[in-house]
Amino acid sequence: MKAVCWHGKGDVRVDTVPDPSIINPHDAIVRVTSTSICGSDLHIYNGWVPGMRRGDILGHEFMGEIVAVGRSCDQLSVGDRVIVMCAIACGRCWFCKREHYAGCDNSNPARSQAILELAYGHAGAAVFGHSHLFGGYSGGQAEYVRVPFADIGCVRVPPELSDEQVLLLTDILPTAFQAAESCAIDRGDAIAVFGAGAVGQLAIRCAQLQGADKVIAIDSVPERLRMAAEQGAIVVDETHGDVLARLAELTGGRGPDACIDAVGREAHGSGYDTMKQTLRMETDRPSALRKAIFACRKGGTVAVAGAYFGFIDKFPIGAAFMKGLRLCVGQTHFHRYARPLLQRVHARELDPSFVITHRVTLDDLPAAYAMFDARRDGCVKVVAKIS
Ligand SMILES: [Zn+2]
Ligand SMILES: [Zn+2]
Repeated sequence: MKAVCWHGKGDVRVDTVPDPSIINPHDAIVRVTSTSICGSDLHIYNGWVPGMRRGDILGHEFMGEIVAVGRSCDQLSVGDRVIVMCAIACGRCWFCKREHYAGCDNSNPARSQAILELAYGHAGAAVFGHSHLFGGYSGGQAEYVRVPFADIGCVRVPPELSDEQVLLLTDILPTAFQAAESCAIDRGDAIAVFGAGAVGQLAIRCAQLQGADKVIAIDSVPERLRMAAEQGAIVVDETHGDVLARLAELTGGRGPDACIDAVGREAHGSGYDTMKQTLRMETDRPSALRKAIFACRKGGTVAVAGAYFGFIDKFPIGAAFMKGLRLCVGQTHFHRYARPLLQRVHARELDPSFVITHRVTLDDLPAAYAMFDARRDGCVKVVAKIS
C-alpha cells in the first residue's frame, strides 16, 4: 500500500510499504477514505518530536471502512464506516473505566511506557502516527491502517454525513470542545481564544455553543482572522497594537472570563523563546500561554488546547496564583466526546468542515505538509481524500 512516511526533519514521502494485518484479536483493519494533517503533525515534520524513526507512517486524524476484524471485536463488522479516535485506549483499565481515556494504561507498549514514566512520571495513552514515545503505531495517512482496541476506538458514522463533516471528530473537534467545556462558561461570559488555526476556530464555535456571549480571537494571520470574524468572533490582530490592552478594553477593563491557548508549543512572536529553544534551555515556546495568563480576569480560567511536550521557561506562576486562576491543561479524552459530538453534528448544531481550506490526494500530502507549515495560500486545514 501507499503511505506518508517520515524520513527526517522537513522530509516526508509517499512510500510503498507492506499492508497492515491483524496482530491482536482486538484489532481491526480500516481502509482509509479521508485523513487530515494536524498542527501536531507539523511538530513531527519540523523535527521537534523525539523518538521518530525513518519510515514511520504519519497521521492520527483518519476515517474509513472496516475491511477486517479480529476475533475479539464484537461491536464492529466488515463494511462499517467509522471515524477512529486519534489516541488509543483499551476501554478496560482503571483510567478508561473513569473516562480518562488519555491516561489509558494499556495502549503503550512497555518500551514507550518506560520512557514516558521517566519523562512525565506516568505514561498516558498511545497515539497513532506519533513517534515511538507514544507507542510507535503506524498512522492513518495511508491506504490502510491497523486499529488496536478497535471496538472502543472506532465510532460508526451514519451514511448521511459526509467524510468532511465527521473527520475532525477524530481529534481537533473534541479538543476544542473539551477546552471550551473546561472554561465552565456562564451565559454572558467573554472568552478569548489565542490562536485561530483549526483548533482555535473550532474552540470559537464550541464556546459559542456553550453560551459565551463574546468570543475574541487573537492571531496574526489575515485569513484566520477573517474566518474567525465570519463566525462572529471579535478579532484582535496581534501584529497591531497591544493585545492585552485591547482585551481589557473589550471586557470592561476586567479581562476575559476565560482564555483558551489554542497555539501550544510552537508559538511565534517571542525571540526570547526561540533563543532558549535553540540553546536547548527549554523545549516548548509558551508565549501564547503567558499572554493568556496575563490577560485572564481574576478568578478566571485558562484552558490549554494546544499541545506541549516538555519544559517551558518564565512560566508566570505568580500571576496565576495572585489572580486565583484555574488552569485546565491536558490531552483530550477523545473517546468521551466523539459520540455526543457526533449527535450534535448529526442534529446540524455544529459542522466542523468550515475549517477545511485545502483538499488533496495521498500523493499530494508531502507538498501539503510544506504548504501548511509555511502557512502559504491561506492554509488552515488540509484534508486528503484517499479512496
Ligand atoms: Zn491532530
Ligand atoms: Zn485503558
